[in-house]
Amino acid sequence: MSNKVYIVGAGPGDYGLITLKAVECIKKADVLVYDRLVNPDFLNLKKDNCEVIYVGKESSNHIVPQDQINRILIDKFNDGKAVVRLKGGDPYVFGRGGEEAEALYDEGIEFEVVPGVTSAIGGLCYAGIPVTHRDYSSSFHIVTGHSKKDDQNEINWSSLSKEKGTLIFLMGIGNIGHIVKQLIENGKEPNTPVAFVSWATRHNQKTTLSTLKDARECVEREKIKAPTIFVVGAVVKLADKLNFFEKKPLFGKNIAITRSRAKNSELRKKLEEKGAKVIEIPTIDIKSIESSKVMIKEKIDGINDYDYLAFTSHNSVKYFFDILKFYSFDLRKLANVKLCSIGAATTSELEAKGVLPDITSERFDAVSLAVEISKHSVGKVLFPCSEIAGTALQEYLGNNGFAVDRIEVYSNRVNYSERERVVDILSNSSVDFITFTSSSTFENIVELMGAENISLLEKCKIISIGDITTKTIKSKINNNVFQSKEVSMESMVEKIIELL
Ligand code: SAH
Repeated sequence: MSNKVYIVGAGPGDYGLITLKAVECIKKADVLVYDRLVNPDFLNLKKDNCEVIYVGKESSNHIVPQDQINRILIDKFNDGKAVVRLKGGDPYVFGRGGEEAEALYDEGIEFEVVPGVTSAIGGLCYAGIPVTHRDYSSSFHIVTGHSKKDDQNEINWSSLSKEKGTLIFLMGIGNIGHIVKQLIENGKEPNTPVAFVSWATRHNQKTTLSTLKDARECVEREKIKAPTIFVVGAVVKLADKLNFFEKKPLFGKNIAITRSRAKNSELRKKLEEKGAKVIEIPTIDIKSIESSKVMIKEKIDGINDYDYLAFTSHNSVKYFFDILKFYSFDLRKLANVKLCSIGAATTSELEAKGVLPDITSERFDAVSLAVEISKHSVGKVLFPCSEIAGTALQEYLGNNGFAVDRIEVYSNRVNYSERERVVDILSNSSVDFITFTSSSTFENIVELMGAENISLLEKCKIISIGDITTKTIKSKINNNVFQSKEVSMESMVEKIIELL
């Protein structure tokens, strides 16, 4: 990134509603200055050493005054830092982006502005409200609802009220009585449909429909709070039909998944597509075992002595191929070795490396894979695995005349530093489901939480991926344990939907 300050729109909240350019800016930033309405998950994209400054403000309670925010941008830039100012929605739609850009201009600092999806249009879209429609509205007007008391000079209520187009008020909840009064007094039909869309595009989005004359009471009755978009106009009538987002099967559900941070979770994506809020519980820290690299070199050099290469987890594929890459190993040398894979996730990791397995097991357990391998001719097996991988595969193949070389390529340790956070999540947030994709993820969470907290798991429905995992869970917990039909992430998602 060149020497500039980037003022960047992060969209209304949904993780997918950010631009590629914004993502690029976040990844390169040395300093990120962000607001309350920015989805904090975007911060995970930052560089390790990036400084993060929160300047969030509630509508009337400016935590950091604007001139101070401008000062931060200027000072950090002058320190030689790549500065990114990340704002909710679009920076120029009531985001004070213009003021920040002016301040930079006045200092002679080069800047660029990256537009974002504004909540005023994109947020309403997720509530099923198109801002224009040939049958209902030929224009839309985005208005600040947060105006001073004597605002006749700021907002022309008389012409706004006569407008047939859609009226969109941002920051209007605290001022709803005044807005409604002005519109009705200036001639707006009191029965005009209105909607309130709170936390638009987020998992906790809520759309409330009403009419102009009842709007004020509706805010009180439904306890509607900021951030909310208030929209007035006939297009609101379409919300029932077009609200695709709140109709998703898992919308409003909290689902905890236990996966390591090391893998960008496939399960998480699938659940979020169905509208769930996903809470990731990192129970284990997965790391490569540096000291074993040297030992592995020898095996790799002699790869042609092996007939089979067996993988029982996606991580074993990942870490083994990382080592191959480290030693500039040419994958064509694997041509005579049969690749063996357990389960869909392991196979898809292999596919991502550009190779396909020769032998797979349908069931997600090491013995099933060993049985499949043993149907082929006896030979030498290289088995890259975790330091805690069981010995079942080795034993079964050993008993059937195979020679198995186990090499531990990654460690898999309980992340005790997360204990308090995990106990807190399970006691305080209403988790509807928790998923376990292996026995070890369950054992890890039990180890992490401590036996005294195990009953916290019984508060939610537990979804297990397969027989062995279910058996492990049931050895500790009897109630609320459900198993997916097949050993796959898709099937786990289906099971959750079925239980609803
Ligand atoms: N620049 C932002 C708007 C900033 S003003 C944009 O383009 O979206 C802040 C106001 O925007 C809030 O008070 C609320 O009215 C609205 N807003 C922003 N994000 C929202 C969201 N996700 N859901 C509902 N309202 C939102």
